[in-house]
Amino acid sequence: MTKKVLKFGGTSVGSIERIKLVADIISNEHKKGYKLIIVLSAMSGITNSLISKSKKISENFDARELDVLLSTGEQESISLLAGALVSKGLKAKSWLNWQIPILTSGEHGNARIINLSKEKINKFLDSGGIAVLPGFQGISENGDITTTGRGGSDATAVAIAKLFETDTCEIFTDVDGIYSSDPNKIPVAKKIDKISYEEMLELSSLGAKVMQPSAVQTAMMYQIPLHVKSTFTNREGTKIFSEESINYDKVVTGVAYSKDEAKITLQGVDDKPGVAADIFSPLSEKQINIDMVIQNISLDGKKTDLTFTVKRSDLRKSTDLIKKNKKIKFSNLSFNEKVSKISVVGAGMVATPGVTYKMFKALAEEKINILAISTSEIKISVIINEDDTLKAIKKLHSEFKLD
Ligand code: ADP
Ligand code: ASP
Ligand code: MG
Repeated sequence: MTKKVLKFGGTSVGSIERIKLVADIISNEHKKGYKLIIVLSAMSGITNSLISKSKKISENFDARELDVLLSTGEQESISLLAGALVSKGLKAKSWLNWQIPILTSGEHGNARIINLSKEKINKFLDSGGIAVLPGFQGISENGDITTTGRGGSDATAVAIAKLFETDTCEIFTDVDGIYSSDPNKIPVAKKIDKISYEEMLELSSLGAKVMQPSAVQTAMMYQIPLHVKSTFTNREGTKIFSEESINYDKVVTGVAYSKDEAKITLQGVDDKPGVAADIFSPLSEKQINIDMVIQNISLDGKKTDLTFTVKRSDLRKSTDLIKKNKKIKFSNLSFNEKVSKISVVGAGMVATPGVTYKMFKALAEEKINILAISTSEIKISVIINEDDTLKAIKKLHSEFKLD
């Protein structure tokens, strides 16, 4: 009998009515004879509200205790859904992370699932039961509760599909698939029927929160096909799988954006070997990720300007570390928080010259100033002023014929 993972996100279980609707979807799949492992997120808004409660105690709330707190969101949703299935006359049962157990490695708030014990769940599935498991949570080697990062139920679903060797992993969400851009912000965005792991990984890493990046990474590593679809409509959805099977007729597949960025500029930095390393080393020690870097050409061969971007939430920490850094000298430090990163992504770029030029020309036509640039084989990202975000996305949509 075919085994399936069905994952339902926060909005899909966001109210009692919706939980009942999800129970109907599961009941129909069960009637078709599938063995079902269900993975759930917390009801929408719950994780955010738990985070705000912790912040009222302290902005630096203890990481271990935060994971204990956040994992309660998924405990609520799995029990409500399993109860809804039981009251429909089905055999269903929920388990928490430590009861299975779901083992993770890595730090609190950003753990990765490494293994889980399959025996009791397989036994339950064999007896005709529907297993309801919590997304987002696990336990560490020493028994502490962990979580797998925001949106981490996607990672749980993919890890479970891998460990149980299920035939499919279906991600049910509040939109009917992956779009060329966020359909809730860009009305002209178009649904994509098929997308490669590589493109999806770029899109989600660059801001499309519809799939968590580490979930896509695991799916890509183990070649687990994903099917993203809506809880609320019967449309076909989007299939995410390996590149060989896809016919690329478009150079650009999607446009992602993130308002999570900040730009820092250091003027009058010594233009000599090792200076960039001296600037970035204390930042990397504090796990601050540097995204884009631009170094201006030095006019006098002695001094230069260095611009780079970090996550907006890391801005204060970064500027404090730079000011405290005795190894470096500069004449001025400035920063800009009101920036966003716009990225065009497409596997077809590899074989098509001139995409960068087309992107820059399109933004210039809209009088949008580019503050920083970075490229890879299948993506081009630019930093622009935050106020220009929507204008830029719309223009790039029409430039690359996505609408
Ligand atoms: P879930 O709670 O089901 O995990 P999320 O809120 O994490 O759902 O992700 C779904 C949301 O992702 C959509 O409501 C949409 O606003 C957003 N999104 C951003 N970029 C895209 C995109 N390219 N395609 C589809 N949805 C996107
Ligand atoms: N509840 C968690 C979050 O809101 C995990 C998830 O929804 O995937 O981030
Ligand atoms: Mg999500």
